[in-house]
Amino acid sequence: MDLKTYIRSIPDFPKPGIMFRDITPMLKSANAMKEVMRRMAEPYRDAGITSVLAAEARGFVFGAPLAMELGAAFVPVRKPGKLPHKTETLHYDLEYGSDALEIHEDAIEKGDRVLLVDDLLATGGTIEACMKLANRQGADVVGAAFVIELAFLNGRSRLGDYDICSLIEYQ
Ligand code: 5GP
Repeated sequence: MDLKTYIRSIPDFPKPGIMFRDITPMLKSANAMKEVMRRMAEPYRDAGITSVLAAEARGFVFGAPLAMELGAAFVPVRKPGKLPHKTETLHYDLEYGSDALEIHEDAIEKGDRVLLVDDLLATGGTIEACMKLANRQGADVVGAAFVIELAFLNGRSRLGDYDICSLIEYQ
């Protein structure tokens, strides 16, 4: 199955000059999603993953089913003010300005083997922030899995020696 055929490219969204890769056609196909889950899980089946961590919103769409597929816990990371229990916050820089993400302070046990998930790797800022939140809680981060990688932005270079996998690449 050619998964790229399930991605729709939308020019000039959300700003002029940006080519947005829209995953909603993929979400409409149960067969494509089953194949995505099979391929995302494959490299990590014997990796002893105990938690899958993903940031809202599109990360949840892939992170929660992947956690089930791997028999692991799902850990949500959210924008500030959304999680109900005690949280830890991480502020990080964007190209213009800054942003923040939060995690429940008891989301991860020391030594948990954590897989980070998102729909798309661009500059790597979002997943790097997730990685820092997980590391702060004593996680053993195993790697990161993406449906799409914008290879020309070289987000991988920010992620060190972790095991990084993506299913669809745009050059
Ligand atoms: P990064 O932090 O790596 O620069 O950006 C990745 C984040 O931005 C991901 O959470 C992803 O959901 C979102 N993102 C940026 N560009 C796109 C795009 O073209 N398509 C989709 N689906 N998400 C994008």
